[in-house]
Amino acid sequence: ELKEIEAVLDQEPIVNHAQIIAWEWVANYYCCSLGEVYKAALPSALKLESQSNICVNPNFETTGELNGEETALLMMLQGKGQANIREINQFLGKKSSYATLKILLEKNAILMEEKLKESYKPKTVSMIRLAKEVSSPDEIQLALESLKKARKQSELLTYFLSATIFHQEPKTSLLKKELLEQAGVSEAVLKALIDKKILENESVEIGRLEMNHSADQYLYELNEVQEKTLLELKQAFRSNRPVLLHGVTSSGKTEIYIKLIEEVLAEGKQVLYLVPEIGLTSQLITRLKRAFGDRAGIYHSKFNDAERVEIWFNILHDKKDSYQVVVGARSAVFLPFKMLGLIIVDEEHENSYKQFDPAPRYNARDLAIVLGQIHKSPVLLGTATPSFESYYNVKLDKYALVELNERFQGIEMPEIVVADIRKATRQRQMKSLLTPSLFEEMKLALENNEQVILFQNRRGFAPYVQCKTCGWIPKCKNCDVSLTYHKFRSGLVCHYCGHTSSLPANCGECHSEDIQTKGFGTEQIEEELGLLFPEASIARMDLDTTRAKRSFEQMIYKFENRQIDILVGTQMVTKGLDFDHVRVVGILNADQLLNYPDFRSFERSFQLMAQVSGRAGRKGKRGKVVIQSSQADHEVLQEVVDNNFIQLFNRQMHERKLFRYPPYFRLIKLVVKHKNRDRLDLGANQLADLLRKHFRNQVLGPEYPVVGRIQNWYQKEIWLKLEKSKVLNQNKRMLMDAIDQVKSLPNNGGLVIYADVDPM
Ligand code: ADP
Ligand code: ZN
Ligand code: ZN
Repeated sequence: ELKEIEAVLDQEPIVNHAQIIAWEWVANYYCCSLGEVYKAALPSALKLESQSNICVNPNFETTGELNGEETALLMMLQGKGQANIREINQFLGKKSSYATLKILLEKNAILMEEKLKESYKPKTVSMIRLAKEVSSPDEIQLALESLKKARKQSELLTYFLSATIFHQEPKTSLLKKELLEQAGVSEAVLKALIDKKILENESVEIGRLEMNHSADQYLYELNEVQEKTLLELKQAFRSNRPVLLHGVTSSGKTEIYIKLIEEVLAEGKQVLYLVPEIGLTSQLITRLKRAFGDRAGIYHSKFNDAERVEIWFNILHDKKDSYQVVVGARSAVFLPFKMLGLIIVDEEHENSYKQFDPAPRYNARDLAIVLGQIHKSPVLLGTATPSFESYYNVKLDKYALVELNERFQGIEMPEIVVADIRKATRQRQMKSLLTPSLFEEMKLALENNEQVILFQNRRGFAPYVQCKTCGWIPKCKNCDVSLTYHKFRSGLVCHYCGHTSSLPANCGECHSEDIQTKGFGTEQIEEELGLLFPEASIARMDLDTTRAKRSFEQMIYKFENRQIDILVGTQMVTKGLDFDHVRVVGILNADQLLNYPDFRSFERSFQLMAQVSGRAGRKGKRGKVVIQSSQADHEVLQEVVDNNFIQLFNRQMHERKLFRYPPYFRLIKLVVKHKNRDRLDLGANQLADLLRKHFRNQVLGPEYPVVGRIQNWYQKEIWLKLEKSKVLNQNKRMLMDAIDQVKSLPNNGGLVIYADVDPM
């Protein structure tokens, strides 16, 4: 049945065809609804809201021509002030409410607040300039004379003139706000001048986005190896396959990207440059702004909605002077690109490209590849430590491979050594948390006025606290996880739900007072370093110290300018930072990485360690890396030392195949949640049983994950390990049907089930 058109929202489409194709792919591939994709993709001001408010037109004069319903609605609106469509539907019934609204709108009796249009509108500012009546020097002179008795007004006008037409860089108008501030007068004084028709006010549209960078003329020349790599990349693009650039850290990948971007812009096409976390890329953005000025723009979730709308339209309308190159975190894949000429996925191995929550649980790297097909655009995946997925695709010839094995200016890769924590402990040589080798290296570097980066994957002071007498460990009341001790906040914090409580004085079980902290986090390291290196200036970079706006950038800036000698941090310090004077990098405890219970833990350990090592000795001297571990002869550590990605890859891939893991098999994780534990068990079993009928031994679980309860939601997981050759779409349909079926069973109210395709 055809529906009536209620309203035309936009003069032109705000979503283009390429987007719709991509979004449908997302919904299908990641087992979610198209609505969920739309919701994630569009800035909220662009979403149709039935909240749009309706009120009575104050200028409307009632004539006798209104029928009963029309009068009733008008009275209702008058009483309430305003109402939205949903409320009006309830008031009149859906059928007659549309007809009534239509007539009232035609008669101009009501107004529809154009909420959507409002947020499209660019921001305006008030500018002050000379009034038309005062345009010649004589007229200005007259105006000044007329103000002899009004001292303030005369001052303001004199200031205005000195800052505009008599300024050494003459201009015609000034921002009202600045004028008032700088002249130091009140608004009333200005108003007097406007009333006297000496000055006038003009509102001027301005963009919401910071635009003021002009590109530097000067770009670096590529060296010979980089030039060769650039050619190889362009050659590889011609094969119409995604290209993996496997280039060691500090080889100049970013400089090569800049050259590629330059060429694409010259063809008048757009570029999408994806980065794993926008917060961590201030250095990259500076480099791109230097090269492209305002043609390079940033997009991320910290922008407010109005700013996002403005960016959206800049890209949709393909404005040549802004946002031709979009640097963005994963959500930038949803922007309305018209004609992409290049997609770069930097640090393609990063798992932050995957969205965990809410749906769509997509991987932006993989969506980027789909976008490349839609736009017929080259896709470049760059990294020093490829994901196994991408590397396997190279082996299958689905991706092309280009390698870059030389650091810029031939600087050697850092020397990596493994320091045995167990041995050092046995010989009583540990200096607090440092092995003798790390301690000595740090001392040497500091003496030579060089810098140190230390990596520890845990924030807080101690991962947990424990009663020495009975072993009791305080747990979160909402989650099945132990609480982390934060000394600065002098309390225990749950890293899953944020719940805080004070450090107990006594054991919750045996009331002993002997409670001790266990393990160590960044906060404790910072404190201990203060004792070991009292002369050094030490800073900590983790979630706790970078919450405030710009605090991350400030820390980077200070480190760049050597106001900080030692930087201690979580994985934030591993990503893409480019400093000139870092001599030593220390990994305080590799065991936590290696022992993490996940089939990807070796792959990830290698990536993390290789990336953080890459921060050492990028300019000038060769750097040194010390990896502390109590499994000093672990094979993965040896592979990090040798920078032998291939060996790790081959060995691990053998296991992946044997135990049916990606990239050989496709994983789908089904998460089942309920507030009630028994209900959860019941629902999860029902789902697993149903799935086993179809997928048989490809179903694992249900099983509690490492943390079985978060924020009072109990959760279990069911894993599907599907053979890749199988018809994926058909399987997914099966899966979604099974989920719907279980959800609709009696007693399963309150049961939440979702699918996570290619979980990370
Ligand atoms: P990667 O992205 O591979 O880690 P970068 O592009 O960050 O490497 O390069 C490392 C450092 O070397 C950066 O400071 C960069 O500006 C500099 N660099 C790389 N190539 C050149 C070049 N051709 N000319 C001048 N500086 C370069
Ligand atoms: Zn106890
Ligand atoms: Zn919690």
